[in-house]
Amino acid sequence: SLPSFLLTKTLHFLLQIFINNEWQDSVSGKVFPVYNPATGEQICEVQEAEKADVDKAVQAARLAFSLGSVWRRMDASERGRLLSKLADLVERDSIYLATIESLNSGKPFLPTLFVDLQGTIKTLRYFAGYADKIHGTSIPMDGEYLTFTRYEPIGVCGQIIPWNFPLMMTAWKLGPALACGNTVILKPAEQTPLTCLYIAALVKEAGFPPGVINILPGFGPTAGAAIASHMGIDKVAFTGSTEVGKLIQEAAGKSNLKRVTLELGGKNPNIIFADADLDLAVEQAHQGVFFNAGQCCTAGSRIYVEEPIYDEFVRRSVERAKRRIVGSPFDPTTEQGPQISREQQNRVLEFIQSGISEGAKLECGGKALGLKGFFIEPTVFSNVKDDMRIAKEEIFGPVQQIMKFKTIDEVIERANNTDYGLVGAVFTTDINKAMTISTAMQAGTVWINCFNALSTQCPFGGYKMSGNGRELGESGLKEYSEVKTITMKLVAKNS
Ligand code: NAP
Ligand code: MG
Repeated sequence: SLPSFLLTKTLHFLLQIFINNEWQDSVSGKVFPVYNPATGEQICEVQEAEKADVDKAVQAARLAFSLGSVWRRMDASERGRLLSKLADLVERDSIYLATIESLNSGKPFLPTLFVDLQGTIKTLRYFAGYADKIHGTSIPMDGEYLTFTRYEPIGVCGQIIPWNFPLMMTAWKLGPALACGNTVILKPAEQTPLTCLYIAALVKEAGFPPGVINILPGFGPTAGAAIASHMGIDKVAFTGSTEVGKLIQEAAGKSNLKRVTLELGGKNPNIIFADADLDLAVEQAHQGVFFNAGQCCTAGSRIYVEEPIYDEFVRRSVERAKRRIVGSPFDPTTEQGPQISREQQNRVLEFIQSGISEGAKLECGGKALGLKGFFIEPTVFSNVKDDMRIAKEEIFGPVQQIMKFKTIDEVIERANNTDYGLVGAVFTTDINKAMTISTAMQAGTVWINCFNALSTQCPFGGYKMSGNGRELGESGLKEYSEVKTITMKLVAKNS
């Protein structure tokens, strides 16, 4: 059950807005409730940032970024040390952070500790190491010149993140921005502000100068929109729905043309050939769609299975889904917790109804589970057609769609026939098929005989409407710099 002493003792100071290294109440005096999705009960209330608070944060972040400031004059290696210190503090407090993350998001505790916390720590360390290794080149330009490039920070970066990976998304955003020397205004999702606010406390403890990192809990249409359209913000990085991604890009265009990077949704194809290792493919396809209760932009939610093994693949997938343990995030045997909110639960159940009414075969699951909390049974659909809503739209829930294919050309065409392009996967023991599929797929990441194999070192992001730009890896770092070319005329002194 809920370790309530942890909350009452330590959470109280985290329920405010973090600007200029100070905990502050909202300008409006408003607060909003935060819930435990496993029970539906309220955990606490948090101060609600709106436009006036964003204005305050922009002032602090601009001052922290001004020429000659402590942050701008700080050695790059010292920036790296601070980020590395932050990683150490997250590691020190990882049990506590994992507890709060589970409580607030409904993620099972053990995967939270081993996947989310590890991912958070490793991401901060990776970018810490880069801080003093971001350099330009000297260029043999035509004429009597000396020319070189510098990678300079962009300025004040607005960062808006979702609720499905609150801690990891915080690290994915802070790591590269700070390594490059930017200052940051970050808005966690309204549903999951708690661990992000705890990171703010660690930011202060690590010793970052005031104003470098500001954390503003609040809502999208108010605080988020104020960030996207602010004239004093130089870049916005967003992770969330494609629908809101479009609003962000539009707001940037209508205001100051701030740089925009977007990591949006996916309707990701997972192609299983008849020659695949079937045990591996069934399990990976299962994890690929059901991980995090299906609330992943990478969810492999369109599974194309080659005709000869289709029936057997469906049979085994259904058997696996029926064995999936749904329950309390704090029960160590739990594989799947609740959806994040009643709203998301209803949205997913509505998708399931559309699948049934459009004629897909419901093999198992399909209903809400339990008396309280926002749980949904692991659900499998077979006989899914490409034009059904469940095959086209991002469901963001524990719902698996299994389709049939006959030829490689056909499956490539169908896999790419979507507005999205985040990830894709192929299971086969034939290297020619593996390479043909992975080069043809319009997706930012392709996995061969594995799924969700993500790592800080590798660029991640989408083709088409799955986003703009890349996060992680060296590519992710590049999105937080401006390239400046400096050219000096060489004056030859011959006399
Ligand atoms: P969302 O609205 O896109 O939320 C993502 C973030 O954007 C949140 O911080 C949100 O604030 C903020 N936001 C919302 N409207 C905004 C606006 N007008 N201007 C600036 N920021 C804004 O996602 P959602 O409503 O939570 O979920 C809806 C669907 O989006 C899901 O079912 C799923 O399909 C998709 N989704 C994708 C991802 C992903 O990882 N790619 C993550 C989450 C959701 P609030 O806190 O007020 O919501
Ligand atoms: Mg929303």
